[in-house]
Parts: sequence; C-alpha cells; structure tokens
Amino acid sequence: MARKHTLTSAVAPCWAAIRKPHIQMLTGKCGRFSVAAEDVLDADKAAEQQGLEVIGWYHSHPDHPARPSQYDQDHAWPWYSYVIVSVQNGSPKEITSWRLDDDREAFSPEGIEIRHSATV
Ligand SMILES: [Zn+2]
Repeated sequence: MARKHTLTSAVAPCWAAIRKPHIQMLTGKCGRFSVAAEDVLDADKAAEQQGLEVIGWYHSHPDHPARPSQYDQDHAWPWYSYVIVSVQNGSPKEITSWRLDDDREAFSPEGIEIRHSATV
C-alpha cells in the first residue's frame, strides 16, 4: 500500500513523527490502548478533510518496554502501524513502531525517524 500523509485518532496527547518519505501524525490516549470503531471513522474523516490518510496509532507503555503486548496483538489490524513509547518514571525513554503480520501471529518492527515532535 502506498502511503502518503497520515493523521490518526482525534484524541490528545499527540506525538508527531515524520518517516521518510511519508508523514505520520499519530495520537493516542493513556490507559489501556484500544481504538473504537467510531474513533477510527472519526480519524479517517478528519484526516481526509486535511488530505491525509490514517496509517497508524500510538500509545505508551508506562514503566514497561516499548514492545507490543498480547493485548496489543489481540486488538491490532495488520494494515496499521503501531507506535509504542516506553515511559519510565514519567519520562519517555524509547519509541518503536510495529506492524502486525498478515497472519496476525506476530508484530514486525518498523523503522522510524522522528524529525519533529509536538509539545503535549
Ligand atoms: Zn501496548
């Protein structure tokens, strides 16, 4: 799938990342990570209005590694990127991006390049 510009979720806080050659703006919310169908539709609509495309979601793992959990795997879709930020003692320490394999058996890591981050 060719990717262009991306905007995800209408929920703050926001973390913006740019990955060559495409732009990602990924937002999420604290607590257990889940994305309701209506959030997906709202995000798609908001992105489309800005000429963008939703390509993924981000969430944090407080005091845990930036690796997908079983819960993450159980609730992921193979066509989105999942950015995870490990937050240790209240400070972001590691950021990773993952894509669920088509057979949904595992996540594969994705490269990520941060050029700009939003202040939250
Ligand atoms: Zn997670």
